[in-house]
Amino acid sequence: MKIVAAMFADFQETFLGGPSQLTMSLGGRVVLAHALARLSRVAGLDGRCLVVRPSDQDAAAAALRDAGLADRIDVLPLDDGRRPRRALFRSARKWSLGSWRGALLGTTWFDEYVEPMVVARVLDQLGCDALLCVDGHQAALDPALCSRMVAYQREAGDAAPFVFTQAPPGLAGLLLGRQTTRDLVEQNWHAGLLVSYRPEVPRMDPITKPVCCRIDPVVAQCSERWLADTTTGRARLAAAFARFGEDCSAADLCGQARGAGAPADPLPTEIELELTTDDPLPRTTLRPRGERVPTRRLEEPQALRPILEALGGCDDRLVVLAGHGDPLLHPQLAEVCRLVRASGVCGLAIETSLVELPDAALEAFTTCPVDLVEVRLDANTAETYRRVHGRDAFDLVLANLQRIESARRARHSPAPLVACSLTRCAATLDDLEPFYDRWIRTFGSALIRGYNDYCGVLPADGLLACEPPVREPCRRLPERMMLLADGGAVWCHQDVAGVHRLGDWRRDPLTTLRAAVPAAESIPPDHPLCSRCHEWYRP
Ligand code: SF4
Repeated sequence: MKIVAAMFADFQETFLGGPSQLTMSLGGRVVLAHALARLSRVAGLDGRCLVVRPSDQDAAAAALRDAGLADRIDVLPLDDGRRPRRALFRSARKWSLGSWRGALLGTTWFDEYVEPMVVARVLDQLGCDALLCVDGHQAALDPALCSRMVAYQREAGDAAPFVFTQAPPGLAGLLLGRQTTRDLVEQNWHAGLLVSYRPEVPRMDPITKPVCCRIDPVVAQCSERWLADTTTGRARLAAAFARFGEDCSAADLCGQARGAGAPADPLPTEIELELTTDDPLPRTTLRPRGERVPTRRLEEPQALRPILEALGGCDDRLVVLAGHGDPLLHPQLAEVCRLVRASGVCGLAIETSLVELPDAALEAFTTCPVDLVEVRLDANTAETYRRVHGRDAFDLVLANLQRIESARRARHSPAPLVACSLTRCAATLDDLEPFYDRWIRTFGSALIRGYNDYCGVLPADGLLACEPPVREPCRRLPERMMLLADGGAVWCHQDVAGVHRLGDWRRDPLTTLRAAVPAAESIPPDHPLCSRCHEWYRP
């Protein structure tokens, strides 16, 4: 069996749309030099190549010369740069950058760089049976993990038409066989669908099959992104390289992420922004709304500028318009969306019941654009909807979903992605499976959320809780922050009443607010909010 490794190197842009980071320095070398040096140490291969666009052939050859690897790695200018689904995948992956799979549309991190048409071209050109696909921004590619995948493929033979590991993004790759690649091209599938749930293709989870190469659980359970494709990613790797050396292993990196050694980020990764507490479902049983929330409304959208500009200075930050009301009821929603986009923030999502869809909001969805609209539907029938939300609006929401779809098509816009979500609880349990399959089929994505009692604001649910048995430090606190519509910055969205304030986001710089967030480990077990919270384990 002839197995070759192909490193896909885009010298123009990153998957997220920023300028390519391949030639940016990271420790003692540039990003691509790290990746190439690591690729050269992968054992068991019949060849290695650097796949680029024809226009980048000279840059690729120079990178190999500089790395002293020109005689060991060939340049293949076979990438035509066509990525017809990239905008779509970008909007889907932004919300799961640290996960190798489980993103919207069934996308995985492999879809960030594996284009089946290009893989097929390389396989044909080299006459090989399988291609180990990796990305040029993988400055922390683990040669031992990749060598293990190659050996595993040789041993498994036809029993493994493709091979993957559960390593977090950046540490390993995807081994694609010739037939699997042909199938992907013919069916116009992306690689992620090989390892995702689709109701049309019922099967066991591939992680239980021979196609999954087992790895150290410390690595498999890590949810950090180890790619040098953003400023944050390069800073994270630079800190790790300084600590463990530039040849450090996946286990070193993932062990650090689990321990207390990870450097603190001066800004939150994701901000939830509340525009209003008005809501078309004031009597819903699934969220605190109506009289259960103090009245708040964003008065001056321009006040958001400093916060958004601070976030936009990083190339991977996210803003979710949500809070304890429906953002679509705020008359200046479109202006807020435009401000977020103008600031350079990477991802913009909106959570809504979609009971009301003003024309201006619909327009903003496609023109700003909004990456993701999560529709908190919570039912698969009008009867369940009425029962859990106290209003007969199921058909209205379906009609509004159709309006979004029509607007998308009319503008030939990939955005926004639409994902309907259902809160898993006793009242919705019978709807759960048909709901999930229905929306996966319709929009390619569906979300199941756990029931949240908001630290005792809502009654407990009758279903067995999903909470792990051993309480650990909150997994949300290090990543997120919530900005209330009245100016309050609070730890997280569990603080419905806005009691535990870090400051006023209209006045205080984001770094100051962030610095006021306590370390998750330091929160006392009897804290009035956190001690009653069942959401601490959800990232
Ligand atoms: S434990 Fe709960 S209430 Fe406390 S910070 Fe985490 S998510 Fe918020």
